[in-house]
Amino acid sequence: MSVRTKTSLELFRLKKTLNTLAKKEGRGTELISMYVPPGKQISDAINMLRDEYGTASNIKSTTTRKNVMDAIVKVQQRLKLYKEPPPNGLVIFCGAIPQNGPGSERIETYEIEPPEPIRVYLYRCDARFHTEYLQEMLREKEVYGILLVDASEATLATLQGRRLEIIRNLNSGVPGKTRAGGQSARRYERLRDMRLQEYFTRVGQHANEAFLPLENFKGLILGGPGPTKLDFEKGDYLNYMLKDKILDVIDTAYVEEQGVKEVVEKAPEIMRKIRYIEEKKVMQQFLYEIGHDTGLVTYGEEDVRRALQAGAVRILLLSDELAMSRVTLKCNACGYQEQRTVKNQELVSLQQSLSGQPCPKCKAPALAVAETQDLIDDLAQIAEYTNAEVEVISGETEEGQMLKNSFGGVAAILRFKMQG
Ligand SMILES: [Zn+2]
Repeated sequence: MSVRTKTSLELFRLKKTLNTLAKKEGRGTELISMYVPPGKQISDAINMLRDEYGTASNIKSTTTRKNVMDAIVKVQQRLKLYKEPPPNGLVIFCGAIPQNGPGSERIETYEIEPPEPIRVYLYRCDARFHTEYLQEMLREKEVYGILLVDASEATLATLQGRRLEIIRNLNSGVPGKTRAGGQSARRYERLRDMRLQEYFTRVGQHANEAFLPLENFKGLILGGPGPTKLDFEKGDYLNYMLKDKILDVIDTAYVEEQGVKEVVEKAPEIMRKIRYIEEKKVMQQFLYEIGHDTGLVTYGEEDVRRALQAGAVRILLLSDELAMSRVTLKCNACGYQEQRTVKNQELVSLQQSLSGQPCPKCKAPALAVAETQDLIDDLAQIAEYTNAEVEVISGETEEGQMLKNSFGGVAAILRFKMQG
């Protein structure tokens, strides 16, 4: 994976995988998590596993011992396929997972190339998989700038994941609104205004220097008590590139560290809001095309699939609440195949209904489910072949609900019109 911003789909997939893995439980302490960071020698990792294999031979329970040793061997085999770790390192989860009650364990192996370089080198054998380092990483990627301003001072900070860093605190030097006796009111006002502008300019310069060069800089949150922050925002104090990246303007009671903490408390909400805005934008684009009858949209699984296969899709919109699967049925007698889309909750009943059903081609009662794939992954795969963008849209905005309820959760903005 190269260095580029993760798409909503990649993040959705990784999150989904990690959530699934985090829920898996071993019968005993027998699930292995192995993190190999970039730059580490694969041979070191394999040697470490050899030692662990030796230690595992002392485990009392026969089943646990066998499961742990099997898992270690599996991880070693996977590692041997690499000359060196991939650019961001490698994470392997492996262990015996009960499939259907006790005694039904089967070794499952998951190999993940992290979206960013991992720093930890670790081996864990536990009753669960240690996914938290990767989950943390998903949260930690982006950097947000925080800028609090009022007439007396300003604070600049960055927030990355849960890491908060105060960069600078500036004093305005602007005198208060009430003047000392003897000065002319107008002169005082003008002086104060000048000082305020100087101060805003200074704040702007510091903000430009602090935030613009940041890697993975997602945007700026502007805050402070009262209307000063709005005056600051309106003026030309921030570089236009930074101004473009103001994500939100919020009220805080304080301007100092305490104010920054107020922002951090609201941060998850702010970030959700930002993603909502992105989702709303792309959905509104879709609705615009529909409303103006441009012919550059389509929706519903079948039509979208056809458009995807024709390479006509520019942006594929998928509701993250789809909960559907693409199932491949195969006849074990004649090899006949067909694909169907079913709701996830109907997978079991589909399987049951197949027994005894005749194959449409050879009439033998030999139909079985050969493959099941999440519908989102299935469609996204076709999108990837044709370089379509994929947006996984949450159901948490009105537009997201509309995608799910009015358009079957699958829609597309097209590159060109499709022939009727
Ligand atoms: Zn058949």
